[in-house]
Amino acid sequence: MRTPLIAGNWKMHGTVAETDERIAALLPRLSTVDHADVAICVPFTALQAAVDSTRGSQLGVFAQNMHHEPQGAFTGEVSAPMLAELEVGGVVLGHSERRTYFGETDRALQLKVPAALEAGLQVILCVGETEEEREKGDTERRLRHQVQEGLEKVPSDRLGDVILAYEPVWAIGTGHVATLEQAQDALAFVRALVADRDKEQSKRSRILYGGSMKPDNAADLLALPDCDGGLIGGASLDVSQFTAIVEAVP
Ligand code: PEP
Repeated sequence: MRTPLIAGNWKMHGTVAETDERIAALLPRLSTVDHADVAICVPFTALQAAVDSTRGSQLGVFAQNMHHEPQGAFTGEVSAPMLAELEVGGVVLGHSERRTYFGETDRALQLKVPAALEAGLQVILCVGETEEEREKGDTERRLRHQVQEGLEKVPSDRLGDVILAYEPVWAIGTGHVATLEQAQDALAFVRALVADRDKEQSKRSRILYGGSMKPDNAADLLALPDCDGGLIGGASLDVSQFTAIVEAVP
């Protein structure tokens, strides 16, 4: 019922030339993939090139941030309608690097998520606890806060359209992947939080795992009952590794 999604987060990697080159290498390897949606999340400056070179293919293109207002005096920002105009398919919101380094708050995300949906973009909303929060037994409290705030202004009938990514901060870029039990518990907890708002919509919610997913651990993570795909950082920059993760989707 839920089509898995494998999304590669390229972060701040990729000039236009490098983006074109990586996409050209990726597309032929994805041509037989029909069991999963696949997307790449590229820097703003590479979005147009990525949209142009993936047109007509099954590879989606996402941005990595946006402002909640459609326009205005917000120097350096880009809005949802601006992304939609470029034919970008979606946007990643609330990635832990944006929360940690750029002060992204749950309050800001509360406005960004519905603004993105309104503009016709898909949304991947990232949530996840820090190592300290996990050690203190605060994982569920943190996830509850992030999910409830992030979805607060999303109309009930659109809740299932929001893709959530459970990304434990301590697993991102560290090589320390969550255990299968930790991942499944958190993914199921995130789905239960959506169900608290609307049970039927929560059955539609795609919930991804992110954090040091690699070809050698992807199959087990992707087979978890509440795992509907992955958000992949480091391994998504390597065409072979990214393709192997796509192929690991059950
Ligand atoms: C990410 O940046 O969202 C991520 C999951 O990174 P990595 O796969 O490198 O841990």
